[in-house]
Amino acid sequence: MEKKRTEIASLGEFGLIDRLTQGFDHHHSSTLCGVGDDAAVVAPSEEEETVITTETLFEGVDFDLSYFPLKHLGYKVVTVAVSDLLAMNARPRQLLISLGLSAKIPVEALDDLYEGIRFACKEQKIDLVGGDTRASMTGMVISVTAIGGVKKGQAVYRSGAKKHDLICITSNLGAAYMGLQLLEREKRVLADVANPEPQFKGYEYLLEKYLKPRPRTDILDVLEEEKILPTAMIDLSDGLASDLKQLCRASKCGARIYLERIPIARQTSELGEEMHIDPVIATLNGGEDYELLFTVPIALQEQVMRLGVVDVIGHITDEAAGCYLVTPDGGEIKLKAQGFPEE
Ligand code: ADP
Ligand code: MG
Repeated sequence: MEKKRTEIASLGEFGLIDRLTQGFDHHHSSTLCGVGDDAAVVAPSEEEETVITTETLFEGVDFDLSYFPLKHLGYKVVTVAVSDLLAMNARPRQLLISLGLSAKIPVEALDDLYEGIRFACKEQKIDLVGGDTRASMTGMVISVTAIGGVKKGQAVYRSGAKKHDLICITSNLGAAYMGLQLLEREKRVLADVANPEPQFKGYEYLLEKYLKPRPRTDILDVLEEEKILPTAMIDLSDGLASDLKQLCRASKCGARIYLERIPIARQTSELGEEMHIDPVIATLNGGEDYELLFTVPIALQEQVMRLGVVDVIGHITDEAAGCYLVTPDGGEIKLKAQGFPEE
């Protein structure tokens, strides 16, 4: 059965914005005015510093609508922005969403997108306070701006890591990348099939990590409870190698991480074997994990290990020592950032 298809033009810009922004609750007293006026008004508390981030995702570059359910995409764009706030040790407060829309997108698809956004906003306690809606000639564009708050003096930067600090990560890595490889494979294989039935059985975890990653707000809760303030932090959006190198560059230090200490999920290894992709490559260069990487002084080693929610994968070294992955046989592999020329 054909799904109902309403053209954007039939609602007009204002009708569309009204329809999409229905049913969003506000969670923060700092949100004084949200959607509906020329601009939002917020009043951050006296005790907080304001943290702001923005991310833009392009159809065909960052997501493929032929297999990305819009509800999940809505959830994911909120995660992408919230994850940046968390990486500064900030809590999410307000969100703005700007859309570039091509005429091929029906209103029902945007309903799904906003259902995902609404769900994520509720879960993350972040208030949708505005955005912009325009036509796009080149496919869908989604830009997300998030505002967060962190207690004065408690923001954690990339630049604070010191020699001997421990390097911690919050989950296995590379699963999102393998989820993407699986979706791309099924798209290729089923390109000419009339009623495609993609084979995802046994790999649900990988798909969820790619399509619906959860921001690690729980990690900030645990660290706060334990009164642990990381010396440096970054969210893992580009891949372990790139992101660790970024942190080291900002902190003017080097790093050694140990391959046998980096957790890899069973499904990541299994699909890696099936598709002839080395799971280590997925882990180092995959990206889109939206987990956190942070450093703590070595004196906190026992306390951090006891948390049960992080893996200590290595330590910080002198800048001159560079960034290396140490293999179980003692080999050393220089870490390379993907997509950027080596400096
Ligand atoms: P203006 O013409 O003054 O820029 P708009 O018509 O663009 O106003 O927007 C009207 C209101 O709707 C504003 O509060 C704006 O922030 C909000 N808004 C516009 N597009 C979106 C969107 N895609 N998601 C959420 N809020 C939006
Ligand atoms: Mg506007």
